[in-house]
This record gives sequence, structure tokens and C-alpha cells, in this order.
Amino acid sequence: MADKLVAVKGMNDILPPDSARWEWLEHKLRALMRRYGYLNIRTPIVEPTPLFVRGLGEVTDIVEKEMYSFEDSMNGDKLTLRPENTAGVVRAAIEHSMLYDGGKRLFYIGAMFRHERPQRGRYRQFHQVGVEALGFGGPEADAEVILMARALWRDLGLTDVRLEINSLGVPDERRAHRAALIAHFEAHAEQLDAEARRRLHSNPLRILDTKNPAMQDLVNAAPQLMGFLGEASLRHFDAVKSAMDAVGQAYTVNPRLVRGMDYYTHTVFEWISPKLGAQGTVCGGGRYDGLVEMIGGKPAPGVGWGMGLERVLDLLLQSGIEAPSRPPDAYAILPDAQALSLTIAAVEALREVGLAVLMHAGGSAGLGGMKSQFKKADASGARFALVFGSDELAQGMVAVKPLRDAGAAQVLRPLAAVADWAHELRNA
Ligand code: ATP
Ligand code: MG
Repeated sequence: MADKLVAVKGMNDILPPDSARWEWLEHKLRALMRRYGYLNIRTPIVEPTPLFVRGLGEVTDIVEKEMYSFEDSMNGDKLTLRPENTAGVVRAAIEHSMLYDGGKRLFYIGAMFRHERPQRGRYRQFHQVGVEALGFGGPEADAEVILMARALWRDLGLTDVRLEINSLGVPDERRAHRAALIAHFEAHAEQLDAEARRRLHSNPLRILDTKNPAMQDLVNAAPQLMGFLGEASLRHFDAVKSAMDAVGQAYTVNPRLVRGMDYYTHTVFEWISPKLGAQGTVCGGGRYDGLVEMIGGKPAPGVGWGMGLERVLDLLLQSGIEAPSRPPDAYAILPDAQALSLTIAAVEALREVGLAVLMHAGGSAGLGGMKSQFKKADASGARFALVFGSDELAQGMVAVKPLRDAGAAQVLRPLAAVADWAHELRNA
């Protein structure tokens, strides 16, 4: 036998029955997007590498060490598997002049790729749902996207996801803060790890985002950006906070929250759950008013978030919340291969009116006996077995046998008039 090939490390197959949980979550997400008026956008998985270098910032974890980048062997183009999708959506919006007649509310669901050490909640191929409100500059858009995540927790029945918010102000305010930050870290240079030392002058804000526990005290004592914000930035932030108060959404202002990409301005936020261990952030996002211009478009504001589906599903699991199971309505039992031409029309007719019908299929040894077919019908979870026996067929009938209700009797139904009785099989 040939060597067994296996999936790439950190990239997972999603198989049934687990895939049903994914489909359920995606279904909830699409319903949520509809309620808020967000339209689906689908951009390529591969983008030009400079999009991320320019968009996310050269000195960020993602660009420095997490991107799957390669050269197109045909023409030498530098390409990258998307590590996130805000940059791609913004690129598409610019490329197709999507903002010419005003703002756009967009969402995506799809795979992202980051070369990280695989562990719980951290994979090399993972999936994000994201929303981007492009062309909207006011705090009402910030509030809207934050509350969309809250609405999802409610839709899913999740209770303990808490909200942290912060404001990163505008570039001018950040510049003043940056100088103070460098002075603080320089004064404690001996406590900086190698990465922080390297980033001290190129991107000191990133140091605040360090995951190194040994540096937490130093980071906690650093000057806070909040103290450098001007009146307009504070007003924007206050409006977002007031909107949260108005709907009774609790939040913590976390002055250390800076997020991993350079494109953020004003509001940034994370939704965090204590049930997920070290990877507690389920959803992260914020405003990115400079990004459109950075990627070559006419300046336009934007705000959005990205949410890891694996982490949401883990959280559902930890919370004991299961997707509703969706067994077939009926299982068609075929006692006799000769009968196929009579049964298949009835089965197709049932499917045509919307019923879920699993039709028995044989293995290499043929159809198998009635007993083993009934076992399969039972295992499928179907509520009815449809028995296309030769006696029934001779009368132009099929026997409909309830499988979940021991007291209920089997009935005969006409093959030629499926539409007349199909409703009896439908889930009450
Ligand atoms: P973290 O701090 O956990 O590395 P991040 O700041 O890199 O997260 P973002 O880039 O903001 O994360 O992505 C948004 C969301 O996508 C995260 O909150 C998380 O739910 C999910 N996510 C990010 N990276 C991964 C990954 N490697 N595997 C699974 N989910 C991920
Ligand atoms: Mg990360």
C-alpha cells in the first residue's frame, strides 16, 4: 500500500456529525447579518503579499511571523494566504468603487491562515466570520457592530462573554503617546524581551500587546494612550460607551487593549470568555479610519470585527449548548432490488415536496435483509420507515411505519399520490 497522506499540521478536517454544528452556527450568523442589513462579500483566499504588509503593518505578529507567503512559480508574484480578511474586503471595496454611493455593510465567513503553534483555540487554518461597516465614521457604527456580536451570543444562548473596550485615538495622538511609551520602556530596557527590544523604536505600541507574562508589570505601568486623546476622540469614545449603557451592555475600559494590527483608530474592543483557557478572545475588532487610504483608496472610515468560529464552537461546547439534531424524516427500505423502479419515483416525489428521505443503498454484497435495513433506518434517526415490499407494491402502496412511537400503527399509502400524504411525515 502507498504511504498514508495526512492533513497539514494545524489544519483540521471538519467531519460529520461535527460539521452539523458548523452549519448551525453559520445559519445563525446569516440570520443575524440579515437582521442588521449586512450583505455577504466573498474575496479570494490568496492576496498580493503587500496588501497585508501595508494594511496590517510591517511590525506586527502576523506580518513578521505568521503569514503563509510564497512566490507564484509562473510569474514570481509575491502572494499570501489571507491571515485575516479586513484588508481583502477593503481592497475589494476600493477596486470595485463600492463606496461611490455611500457606506456599505458587509460580512464574510471563511478560512484564514496563520503559521502559529497549534494549540487549543489556535490553528493554522481557522475560520472567521467578520463584519465591516465601510464608509461610516460615526460612533453609531461602532456601537452597531459591537452589539451585533452581543446579539449573536444571545441567539446562541451564550451568557458569559464580556466586553472590553478602549480607544486608540488618531495618528497624531498616538505619536505623542509613542514618545512617552518609548521613554518608559527605555527607562526599563533590562526588562524588555528580545522582541520588545526590536520593536521599541519601530512599533512600541505593539509591546503593549505582548503575550509574555514576564513583561505584564512593565506593560501595566506604561503611560496610557487615553491620557493623550483630544476632545474629539474622547467624544467619539464617550458616545460608544453611552450607547452600551443605553442598551444595558456592561463593559470594561481596558487601557492596555491595543489589538494586533496597526490599522486601528478610535474604538477597539474584544469579547472575552473565561471558558476558553488561554485563548479567551472570541471576537476582536475596532475602527480603522486610515486603512482605506493606506491601501490606495480615497480616504473613508470603517469599523468591524473578526470572530473565530472554532472558539465560538468551543464555547458552545463548554456551555453545554448543542445544535438541534436534524435526522431525516423517513428511511426507504428496499426489500427487493427489482422494486427500485417503483420506489425511486415515490422517494423522489417525497423529496420534491421538501421531505428528507434517506434511501437504503446496498454495499458490495447487495441490499441486505429487511432486519439489517430496519437497523439502519433506526440508526439514521428517521421518524418513519417506508417499506416498499412486494405485497405493498402489488397493491400500488407503500407501508409507512412509525419508528419512534411504539404505539403507533403502520399504515398503507398510495404510491401514485405521494403529495396527498407527504404531510403526515413532516415533523410536527
Ligand atoms: P490572539 O490574541 O488570540 O492571537 P488575534 O488578536 O491574533 O488573537 P485577530 O487577528 O483579532 O486575533 O482575529 C480575530 C479572532 O479570530 C480572534 O479573536 C480569534 O477568535 C480568532 N483567531 C485568531 N487567530 C486564530 C487562530 N490561529 N486559530 C483560531 N482562531 C483564531
Ligand atoms: Mg494572534
